[in-house]
Amino acid sequence: MLVLSMRIGMMGGTFDPIHLGHLRAAEEIYWAFELDRIVFVPAARPPHKDDEIEASPVQRYEMVSLATGDVPYFSVSPIEVNRPGCSYSVETLREFRTLYGEGSTIYFIVGVDAFQELATWKDAKEVLALAQFIVTARPGWRLDEVERSMTSAQRQLLGEPRCKYLKISEITPQIARRRYEPRVVLLVEMVSLDISSSEIRQLVKEGKSIRYLVTDTVAAYVAQNRLYHLACTQADSQR
Ligand code: ATP
Ligand code: MG
Repeated sequence: MLVLSMRIGMMGGTFDPIHLGHLRAAEEIYWAFELDRIVFVPAARPPHKDDEIEASPVQRYEMVSLATGDVPYFSVSPIEVNRPGCSYSVETLREFRTLYGEGSTIYFIVGVDAFQELATWKDAKEVLALAQFIVTARPGWRLDEVERSMTSAQRQLLGEPRCKYLKISEITPQIARRRYEPRVVLLVEMVSLDISSSEIRQLVKEGKSIRYLVTDTVAAYVAQNRLYHLACTQADSQR
């Protein structure tokens, strides 16, 4: 039995592997926006970076479970791992809306780098209409240039979104709980960690430590499963 009017954060990604940058961004948004929970959704087969992914969908799901298992308000959804074919956010959002009910709000948390590609996603306009977008800062990317750098073609594909720039320290309960109009994108400035999964995979390849970039549980999983090592073949991760 699901409760109506829930405030659900949804964080999608390939999580290859999940790292402290993802977890810290989710933690900050959870508290600032007074969410009920954050659901991490590992993308099994994202259309835009399928050939870059090294760990299997199940392994990435397991790493997200290990990293979030001790946080009561974080959970992980197998929705995209279980769905055959390409992983499209629009399909996940439709399923989330059915699952949590029309009275609930889905806060789709994406980093600014991912948001810049939104116009290329399947049914981008619908994606923006189905969720309240929260775009988080990421080192090397300028949040305050997001709106200005959008081309008119992108604007059209996204249904003419409007951006609202917020500093996380200035988000009051009233701001957090405000019902924003459709297609308002919240750009949230906050301290973000300069960590990426690609850098972590590279460190492992070079035989270097990844401690303090990922949780200890994820570091142990990577070592046990010999993920990201140069000798790791595709066959190793097909399970
Ligand atoms: P890769 O280097 O393989 O692309 P990544 O570190 O970018 O990995 P993803 O799984 O691609 O991780 O990202 C999932 C989501 O988390 C995206 O919306 C991305 O913008 C966001 N994100 C990734 N790293 C950070 C970080 N350090 N701080 C805040 N958000 C992040
Ligand atoms: Mg990425």
